[in-house]
Amino acid sequence: MQPDQDGVRPNYIAGGWRPGPSARTNENPSDLDRPVGLYAHASAADVNDAIGAAREAAPGWGDAPATTRAAVLDAVAHELRARREELGRLLASEEGKTLSEGVAEVARAADIFRYYAARTLDPHGELIPSARPGVEVEVRRRPVGVVGVITPWNFPMAIPAWKIAPALAYGNTVVFKPADLVPGCAWELAAIVDRAGAPPGAFNLVMGSGSVVGEALVRHPGVDAVTFTGSDRVGRHIAVRAAERLAKVQLELGGKNAVIVLDDADLDTAVALVTQGAFFSTGQRCTASSRIIVTPGIHDRFVTALAERTRALRVGHALDPDTEIGPVVDDGQLEKDLEYVRIGKDEGATPLVEGSPVQRGTRGHYLSPTLFVDTHPSMRINREETFAPIASVIRVSGYDEALAIANDTEYGLVGAIVTTSLAYADHFKRHAQVGMTMVNLATAGQEYQAPFGGAKASSYGPREQGAYAKEFFTEVRTSYVKAG
Ligand code: NAP
Ligand code: MG
Repeated sequence: MQPDQDGVRPNYIAGGWRPGPSARTNENPSDLDRPVGLYAHASAADVNDAIGAAREAAPGWGDAPATTRAAVLDAVAHELRARREELGRLLASEEGKTLSEGVAEVARAADIFRYYAARTLDPHGELIPSARPGVEVEVRRRPVGVVGVITPWNFPMAIPAWKIAPALAYGNTVVFKPADLVPGCAWELAAIVDRAGAPPGAFNLVMGSGSVVGEALVRHPGVDAVTFTGSDRVGRHIAVRAAERLAKVQLELGGKNAVIVLDDADLDTAVALVTQGAFFSTGQRCTASSRIIVTPGIHDRFVTALAERTRALRVGHALDPDTEIGPVVDDGQLEKDLEYVRIGKDEGATPLVEGSPVQRGTRGHYLSPTLFVDTHPSMRINREETFAPIASVIRVSGYDEALAIANDTEYGLVGAIVTTSLAYADHFKRHAQVGMTMVNLATAGQEYQAPFGGAKASSYGPREQGAYAKEFFTEVRTSYVKAG
């Protein structure tokens, strides 16, 4: 069937392309005069149909030989890899991160599908000795059933990949609702899964808003599990909805990630990894470095060097090869970012580099980065997730104070330390209240084969990625067997 009806990209339900009751323009934040395209919105009835199709497909897909599922995932990986330049361009166009970041994200999505293709052949059970003669106790992992996948806009390919690939690999069927701001990558992924030979209903795409499509998905009794990445506000709401009907739920939420820079740090390493963590991807990462906690012996040198690097960062069109920081995703986020610059100044922080909207050759949401110094841990810019190219430096007396401040937040996604001292690095690894620690590495840049997730309010439920993903995407069944 024609996958592009009257110039509108349709939803993908029960193995077919289906138009929606309305459509939305996918904006290009680098060039508002050249939108990416029109994408259908699904109705609540479409969502119900998608869930129905997923339920029908679940037994067949779950019981299919592992090699059948592996072949589909492998084919997805293959096409993503082959088209990474083109799809990376699409990603950069609809989300605003740079072309090289976009291409790398598509390549990573390909790696994730390939990785989970291999995981289908992992052993999925164990034998436990019985206390009774002649009895065998066997544990096997079964698919959960129908999984609802709800994703944010900031990683339009990688986050869907790291939810959808393990969901399918472990034998579940999927109904996927991408963020309304970035339907382009999601739609391409659906077309790729279709071509890869997934049976009808095993994978479904329903595009549209959280309030209509997301709600319909989360409330439906036919959805056995919901995996969500996004804001804590929406995440908490989804957890309550899921708990009401005892559906399984996994949430990956916000962060307020700290980087501790100690006196003995290598200055160039510290500046490079803070620049990367705080400003690349326009600061729009849950793993962004936003609180830079610095000890006195290196403080002034570090701040001077970081300010120089921050001023030199090139903000521009996502597809311009010289661009280091692409535009902010949309006008609402730009407003929010500028509001945090104002809040920081009102609270008494010093904007050593003050970000402001900048003009480029095309109409876009361009914003230069902000570096605050002389900030206090109690300031709102140090407590709330900004999701912006804003970093604030907090000066501390030494490591103990640095660690206490790093831990003084409701969030706990990732923390980094820059030091040449093994003793401090080791102490930090064990005492930072986060799900992931980085030593002499940026807060962003996690790898797909390792578990991903946070402590405290940053995550809820089992970890994502790596082999740990099976904790969410499978259920354990215990069988007691007596021969004869
Ligand atoms: P968001 O506003 O929470 O939206 C996330 C997704 O939930 C979107 O698809 C959204 O739909 C949908 N949604 C909204 N309301 C819903 C409802 N009532 N029921 C079901 N679904 C609903 O987050 P965002 O602005 O897209 O993303 C930014 C946030 O994501 C940040 O807080 C960031 O930290 C977090 N994030 C976390 C991680 C992590 O792994 N920890 C990674 C990346 C991002 P719409 O299309 O209508 O928005
Ligand atoms: Mg867009």
